[in-house]
Amino acid sequence: MNVFSFGGGVQSTAALVLAARGDLDCDAFLFANVGDDSEHPATLRYVREVAMPYAAAHSIELHELHRQRKDGSIETLYGRLTRPGSKSIGIPVRLAGSGAPAQRNCTADFKIRVIASWCYRHGARKMKPATTMLGISMDEFQRMRTDSGISYTRLAYPLIDRRMSRQDCINVIASAGLPVPPKSSCWFCPYHRLSVWQRMRDEEPDLFRKACELEASLTARAKTLKRYSPKALPPEQEAVFFTRTMKPLAQAVGNASQLSLFDSFEGDVCESGFCVA
Ligand code: SF4
Repeated sequence: MNVFSFGGGVQSTAALVLAARGDLDCDAFLFANVGDDSEHPATLRYVREVAMPYAAAHSIELHELHRQRKDGSIETLYGRLTRPGSKSIGIPVRLAGSGAPAQRNCTADFKIRVIASWCYRHGARKMKPATTMLGISMDEFQRMRTDSGISYTRLAYPLIDRRMSRQDCINVIASAGLPVPPKSSCWFCPYHRLSVWQRMRDEEPDLFRKACELEASLTARAKTLKRYSPKALPPEQEAVFFTRTMKPLAQAVGNASQLSLFDSFEGDVCESGFCVA
């Protein structure tokens, strides 16, 4: 079984076009939606209004998957982060003190396991593993890894095999007459570049305000959890940050000089459907 982890971004969409042309052997494209309240709205629009109709027109399976609780209800990442009483931080916030990114489980819980579970339900086993293709292009080859960490899944990189760059992917999408998709990620992802936050502040102020509120609520939670705030930070000091400036988001994005200093450090990491740092 060959499946493609479809993130809804440039690389994934190029792979969809390759499959439509018969240049990529794929049984199903799998879009692990981390939540309608979590994925950036523009990505959801693109997936549902462009990618899905295109896939259907070419008889390609493109399934939207969700993380399900044991009772069958859908859990979203934003829902987990904002649930009253939750102890979860779980996204790659920067920690006060070291500035290191916190350990995250968002990708594993909401994407990797969701796709692996689909493969298992469709027959993947240790002796008969599924191949999960990731949309990583040549310009980000350092994100490749060999071990999926799941006994019944192995990884493949069809765009790397074809020596395709991100620009090649854009050209493939354009040649199919499709619009180029926006970068795909959660709207609150701490991996965003500062310029992405700045654009959100200017063009999507409601979303930006929600991101600032989420950062503040995670800081409040982190202060109650020893593992995030081992030195018992003074109340006036923040504990976690959405940027590596180590300032609350609104301040970080408001500082133009920091924008040029920090912007080049942060990569676009969420295009493959696996959010590999
Ligand atoms: S986009 Fe960011 S926050 Fe969302 S799942 Fe990926 S790493 Fe986590």
